[in-house]
Amino acid sequence: MSKQTIALVTGANKGIGYEIAAGLGMTVGVGARDPRRGEEAAAKLRAAGVDAFFVPLDVTDDESVAAAAKVFEERFGRLDVLVNNAAIAGGWPDAPSTATPEGIRAVVETNVIGVVRVTNAMLPLLNRSARPRIVNLSSHVASLTLQSAQDLGGVSGTYSPSKTFLNAITVQYAKELENIKVNGACPGYVATDLNGFQGTDTPADGARIAIRLATLPDDGPTGGLFDHSGPVPW
Ligand code: NAP
Repeated sequence: MSKQTIALVTGANKGIGYEIAAGLGMTVGVGARDPRRGEEAAAKLRAAGVDAFFVPLDVTDDESVAAAAKVFEERFGRLDVLVNNAAIAGGWPDAPSTATPEGIRAVVETNVIGVVRVTNAMLPLLNRSARPRIVNLSSHVASLTLQSAQDLGGVSGTYSPSKTFLNAITVQYAKELENIKVNGACPGYVATDLNGFQGTDTPADGARIAIRLATLPDDGPTGGLFDHSGPVPW
């Protein structure tokens, strides 16, 4: 078994995912649904000294996800770190009263089912790791506690609930997978395409908590939600 730590970051061609790939300090598969964007990002990471390679990966597509798992199976025989980063916003703010079934389905397909699809495909590989870690990119706007207590930038009938759903699944994975640390990461309000670059933090800042959770020691937490400052309430 190779000694290097092997990671996959989904949606790593730009934004926070790119910076997670850049900062992990691992051999990293740059998951991207667009081959040109994925190859370019992997090349840029390699030029910066990262041991990166492009992995074609659309999280909404069973065949694409199965093919990505095969890449890791054939190349390394295992996976140590999975960062489920890929997501879409589906519009913001978006009132629940005007949300459409199609819009909700599209967001849930990517932000929730996509995470389950990728995670389940990668589990046999993660189970062969000595220190497996899964990090799911969540958000402060997913927290029902915070949503009830303060204004988090408007009403969200689709994106916020999709991340709340993801949080619930993160907890269940952590309960089931006793050998894997599974946590949710809240990156903060980060200037990326997702919010029309309105965020106040840089993608590198946003990546920090995901990197920390991906590199947790053996006595680190599982089944939690964290930002740079510590635990975030559900
Ligand atoms: P971003 O710049 O829009 O990047 C999203 C990434 O996901 C892109 O690489 C995109 O690929 C990819 N993606 C979307 N759908 C995909 C699919 N079906 N299959 C594979 N990849 C797909 O957004 P970001 O701000 O970096 O977001 C990264 C994560 O942080 C997300 O989970 C987001 O919800 C979370 N987050 C962000 C903020 C923030 O303030 N930005 C706050 C809280 C949480 P394309 O380039 O092909 O579209």
